[in-house]
Amino acid sequence: MNEKTYKIYADMNISPEVTAFGNEILDNLKDRFDKIDDTAEYNQLKVINAMQECRVSEACLLGTTGYGYNDLGRDTLESVYAKVFHTEDALVRPQITCGTHALALALFSNLRPGDELLSPAGKPYDTLEEVIGIRPSKGSLKEYGISYRQVELLEDGSFDYDGIRSAINEKTRLVTIQRSKGYQTRPTFSVEQIGRLIAFVKDIKPDVICMVDNCYGEFVETIEPSDVGADMTVGSLIKNPGGGLAPIGGYIAGAKECVENAAYRLTSPGLGKEVGASLGVMSAFYQGLFLAPTVTAGALKGAIFAANIYEKLGFPVIPNAVEERHDIIQAVTFGTPEGVIAFCRGIQAAAPVDSHVSPEPWDMPGYDAQVIMAAGAFVSGSSIELSADGPIKPPYAVYFQGGLTWPHAKLGILKSLQSLIDHGIVSLL
Ligand SMILES: *Cc1c(COP(=O)(O)O)cnc(C)c1O
Repeated sequence: MNEKTYKIYADMNISPEVTAFGNEILDNLKDRFDKIDDTAEYNQLKVINAMQECRVSEACLLGTTGYGYNDLGRDTLESVYAKVFHTEDALVRPQITCGTHALALALFSNLRPGDELLSPAGKPYDTLEEVIGIRPSKGSLKEYGISYRQVELLEDGSFDYDGIRSAINEKTRLVTIQRSKGYQTRPTFSVEQIGRLIAFVKDIKPDVICMVDNCYGEFVETIEPSDVGADMTVGSLIKNPGGGLAPIGGYIAGAKECVENAAYRLTSPGLGKEVGASLGVMSAFYQGLFLAPTVTAGALKGAIFAANIYEKLGFPVIPNAVEERHDIIQAVTFGTPEGVIAFCRGIQAAAPVDSHVSPEPWDMPGYDAQVIMAAGAFVSGSSIELSADGPIKPPYAVYFQGGLTWPHAKLGILKSLQSLIDHGIVSLL
């Protein structure tokens, strides 16, 4: 690292010891970072190739208003997503408001009263509990007469194949598999593991629809769940595939019939994919997808850097310093509220936006403890941008993710470390 860089870190209140400590850790990460760059190279080419094959043109970057009939940009982008994910079709729209909405859309449109939804890999993401009706909620699947069953993971985090076999019955219509661990402590599943689970389910009941919640997983590997048998692969555009540029949106890539069902539910029976103006977001959707492989690579490097720093300092980290990665989330357990708060304040202090504000724990709706969140994002709530959050309750862990560039992710982690040192929680000596 050159002298000017050391100096600017010091100017930004990171001590030379912290900078040097970070660089020492990085010396041992070269091979892993090379592998991440290899994956990014492949995925970058996959995206460009899809854009070329779909003949993306300047006109695609413009938007439509009103009904949005014959929206060239929207229709072409959906073909690009279908090519990238190797699926028959895709639905990619600003009218899909977030990841939860995309997942709810996929479920509501492909299930009918009397059907059963099965989660073969334990509890789904918190917000889906209300979608399904695990927690009573207005408009849930349960209210529409769709039942739900869940098979817990085994003690060691693997799939309970016997339990899954006995849970599948004549009503089972759709199986939902969440790739990322979310706010749980289980490991994130690899795409290959998900493929084995899908094959097992289809072997028992071939006509069951397999949906994968792909949030935070896109472009981390060279294959996606759609490459290993998923009928629907679903995610949010303010995470990986939006590349930090998409200001809103979600996607469903999958089998023609599943996507068609989702389109008729999103707009209306009879209208489907034909309506839905793209307004002004198309160029951000295209450019974001174009950047997504390298943005994801930067976030991944940040997660691995953080794991190595905090594991070395004696804190439990999930995934650990050497594990393979299947999403961009890093959990660090500090064991005290002060640790969680100091970490989040460091992340906030590294932000390009709102770096001067100091996050405080607050009573967030839907949570049983106070939560502290650090985010200084260009797109509100975007968690492909550098962000962290932690519930103020045992085991006092923070969940850290994102960073649109690797140098920004590095700055954030060094800032978090400096903050922990400044608060007397950590010492490098
Ligand atoms: C973020 C996330 C969701 C929900 O996405 P929102 O955009 O926050 O609604 C669902 N599942 C997983 C695994 C996620 O990480």
